[in-house]
Amino acid sequence: MCYAIPGKVEKIEKNVVTVSYFGEPKKAYSELPHLKIGDYVYAQGGYVLELISPTEAELILSGWKETFFELKKKDAQLSQLDPNQIKKTYFHSLLNKVTNQYHAEGALVSHQNSVLTREEKLFLLQLEHYKDKELLYKTANFLRQTYQQNSCCVHGIIEISNDCGQNCFYCGIRAENHHLKRYRLSTDEILSACQEAIETYGFRSLVLQSGEDPALTVPYLKELIYKIKARWPVLIFISFGEIGLEGLEELYQAGARGLLMRFETSNSRFYQRYRPGHFLETRLAHLKKAYECGYLIITGSLIGLPDYTPDDILNDIELAESLHAEMISIGPLIPHPETSFANQPMVNEDMVLKTLALARISDPNNKILVTTSFETLSPTARQKGLLAGANSVMLNATPLAYRPFYSIYPKRAHEKESLDQQIEETIGLLKLLGRAPTDLSIGVT
Ligand code: SAH
Ligand code: SF4
Repeated sequence: MCYAIPGKVEKIEKNVVTVSYFGEPKKAYSELPHLKIGDYVYAQGGYVLELISPTEAELILSGWKETFFELKKKDAQLSQLDPNQIKKTYFHSLLNKVTNQYHAEGALVSHQNSVLTREEKLFLLQLEHYKDKELLYKTANFLRQTYQQNSCCVHGIIEISNDCGQNCFYCGIRAENHHLKRYRLSTDEILSACQEAIETYGFRSLVLQSGEDPALTVPYLKELIYKIKARWPVLIFISFGEIGLEGLEELYQAGARGLLMRFETSNSRFYQRYRPGHFLETRLAHLKKAYECGYLIITGSLIGLPDYTPDDILNDIELAESLHAEMISIGPLIPHPETSFANQPMVNEDMVLKTLALARISDPNNKILVTTSFETLSPTARQKGLLAGANSVMLNATPLAYRPFYSIYPKRAHEKESLDQQIEETIGLLKLLGRAPTDLSIGVT
């Protein structure tokens, strides 16, 4: 989003620039011509989006300076780990291994190969004791603060159509749900939703999402993205399902720079069972192609599918990492009454938190999303998730009148809240936790 703060260009190496935020350097890709050292820019999700005048930048920065350092201080306090808490049990030795890795290196590494074995990770995922789980979350939060500082990425999502030709077992907008009113936003409605999000609320990164709607052809989507990019310097993530490998290339050419596509489950048997007629390989081919094209990747899975095990969760985390996920989106299945999973038991809140913490421990450099499905499962999910390793949230920028019909699962969190209310609530929480909605770090090497 939103409230991204301007940074000063410090270094330019081909299309990778180093941007400084109050002395803190971050790298970002730039496609802007004639960029010079000393210029002020807005960067989002690791892309330089816009050049801004020094007068405007300095004005905004003077308003931010104090808050920037206050938030950092608060975050550092909240994410401190008391060494006395870590004792000499097997569990504590694992946490020591994770945190010592950082201290031993003394400097941040760009990609930490996991320090824990698979068995050790499984052990952590199956912790049951309240105090152990709390310490696991604290450790993940410590790593988040150490590797990613206090920036929190806030994307807006616009759900442009709930029509879908697929029949994923878990999803409420599947084709065979005949009890749902279908909608498709017109181009003008999409543009005005973008306008509101970008011009009124300052979002700088938007996800456009839909079911696999046959009417949303690649030529149409391409035209749509051209139109948005011609009007606003915004980072666009696409999330229209499997649009084909050529479709991905075409939408990249039109200006899309991110793909949100979960692989849903790393277990190919589950995948075939719950996405009838589809294969995990096809999904993965999309994700690999998107990375080759240059898209930023947001991917992950659903946890809580029937018969899933902690082993599946670990595989999900590892698969997301191997797909070069810039951000990991793993969230609970919320049973929908019009699907085959109507009676599937809800995932336990702690299982989701342990998963987020494990994702952070596995690779501290990742951005990790608190999904809306998790927020639907638990009203305190956002705060707890952000304190257990996560550092990203998604706000709903779909026009209010359409939101109830995008019912991939029932009673979605924030379904009835205006964008205004969502932003106020989010900023309030981020302030409380000492996080800045800056969204600037990326694994550019
Ligand atoms: N059609 C696109 C994008 C829309 S669906 C696609 O399938 O990729 C977006 C996500 O909603 C899916 O990736 C899925 O993981 C999630 N989802 C669907 N049904 C859900 C449910 N009942 N509970 C939680 N998440 C669900
Ligand atoms: Fe359609 Fe996506 Fe839902 Fe599957 S998950 S039914 S593709 S909207």
